[in-house]
Amino acid sequence: MSFIEIGVDPEVLRGLNELGFETPTPVQEKVIPVLLGGNGDWISLAQTGTGKTAAFGIPLVQKVDTGHKKTQALVLCPTRELCVQVARDIQDFGKYIPNLKTLAVYGGARIDTQIKALRRGVHIIVATPGRLQDLMNRGAADISAISTVVLDEADEMLNMGFQEEISSILAETPVQKSTLLFSATMSREVKTIANKYMNDPREIVVGTRNSGAENVQHHYYMVRAQDRFSALKRIVDLLPEIYGIIFCRTRQETQDVSDKLVQDGYQADALHGDLSQVQRDLVMGKFRRKNLQLLVATDVAARGVDVNDLTHVINYNLPDDLASYTHRSGRTGRAGKTGTSISIIHQREGWRVKTIERNIKKSFKRCQVPSGREICDNQIMHRIDTMVGGNIDHDRIDHLLPALREKLASFDREELIKRFITLESKRFIDYYRYAPDLNVDEKGIDRGQKKRRDAGRRGDRSRAKFTRFHVNVGKNDGMAPERLISIINQGSRNDNIAIGKIQLMRNFCFIEADSKFSDKVMSAFSRQKINGRKVNIEIAENRNEFSGKRVPRKSKAKRSNTYGRRNKGKQAN
Ligand code: AMP
Repeated sequence: MSFIEIGVDPEVLRGLNELGFETPTPVQEKVIPVLLGGNGDWISLAQTGTGKTAAFGIPLVQKVDTGHKKTQALVLCPTRELCVQVARDIQDFGKYIPNLKTLAVYGGARIDTQIKALRRGVHIIVATPGRLQDLMNRGAADISAISTVVLDEADEMLNMGFQEEISSILAETPVQKSTLLFSATMSREVKTIANKYMNDPREIVVGTRNSGAENVQHHYYMVRAQDRFSALKRIVDLLPEIYGIIFCRTRQETQDVSDKLVQDGYQADALHGDLSQVQRDLVMGKFRRKNLQLLVATDVAARGVDVNDLTHVINYNLPDDLASYTHRSGRTGRAGKTGTSISIIHQREGWRVKTIERNIKKSFKRCQVPSGREICDNQIMHRIDTMVGGNIDHDRIDHLLPALREKLASFDREELIKRFITLESKRFIDYYRYAPDLNVDEKGIDRGQKKRRDAGRRGDRSRAKFTRFHVNVGKNDGMAPERLISIINQGSRNDNIAIGKIQLMRNFCFIEADSKFSDKVMSAFSRQKINGRKVNIEIAENRNEFSGKRVPRKSKAKRSNTYGRRNKGKQAN
């Protein structure tokens, strides 16, 4: 089916051609003829990314009578970002309709500028509910003559608490009009609004009700809660080309995860409500230009993210409600592309995955947190692919060739490849050298721990004599076992220092390492500065590890290091 066949005018078609829209998407095929055909109220359960903006935007621009200055259509959106995006799309669809005026009005921007623009006459207003109500109260926006109202992402607007504003705005609209409600989910609140303000609404269902977008795969990883961040890093490290959003539950968690990723060298940044609008715009700009690979965001802040080619969304935690899961996963797999929604869950959350599966009628694939070896193999292959596909900067390199040839004359091809890979992938190889298995079973058995325990029983442990160190950094400083190991590896250069038990507490940790290399371990840590703080390392009193006996309280109290003070006499293990 073509746009002409479903009734789109040639001047609108011209705009669509410029946007590269050749054929209508399924939601457009269903919605455009209905809206062009006449009045009535309609509910469409269309997901984001299906082309729903054009589904309502094209009929809106086509139906406007530009011979009048009065506002004829209103679109209500939950966020400023979506509002700007929808207004921009509508302007694009109506680019070749002379004198068509569309305006976005939203909070957080100067109201006087918006008032002036409204006074000049606007045919289509795209607004967030709060700001529109403000403008109506000031007499600047007049919606008494509109013929169409669109409630876009209605479930989101209601989740955000805009119920009162929506009610009072709709109360000011004429009785004779067409109301269209778009929502990803049909929640109780959406039904209430529909019953109250819509006249015998008919439904246009595109795809399955409440289902996740068709081309999204759902994966999950099960780890202990304290390994969540390490698991996240492994997943990201396994996917060198990832371009995605990591969803967190709170602003604090969002900032923490983002800070730790940045500290560890990832191209990531946070997007949440504690940032000013200017900061948010900056972050979004970087993400859109792909200067950031990972956006760490809260559900609310991510609502306005209008990026279509995300490869993944990652649920750092499962959201509390189903609608949020649908919205999160619907951020990927858009505009005909495929995507993956990944959830990191802990042992007791298996049932939550099953609940989501039942509701969205799609099954989740349980994946294994990749081992250090898998990650390194993948990174090495990726680097090789990048090298093979890349260009050679002859200007910069050619003059060095004779000298390089001479230096490398003694190496054969295989040795050169090995050396190149070792150098190129050193960071990953070092970091993951002793990476434990992070997977757990539903019953709560930590397989990594079990393997380590079994290995211990078999007498398979390293024969090294260990020294136990106390270091004044812990989980609160973004430490994870891999990071501690990597600090030792970086400080030790080529020595293969055996590392024993690591105990990671909130503000400090204990780490065992081969006694022969005590000096190197001490100097590796004491050179570090973490979160602006100089790292302090001391040799801790030994503990009989195999019998699990702890240091007697008395001797602990005598010690003057942070361990005794921070724990106020409590046992640290
Ligand atoms: P939406 O669901 O409105 O957020 O649209 C998702 C994406 O699909 C946007 O980037 C649109 O520009 C794009 N899109 C919408 N309709 C079409 C179409 N008929 N052909 C190609 N791309 C489209």
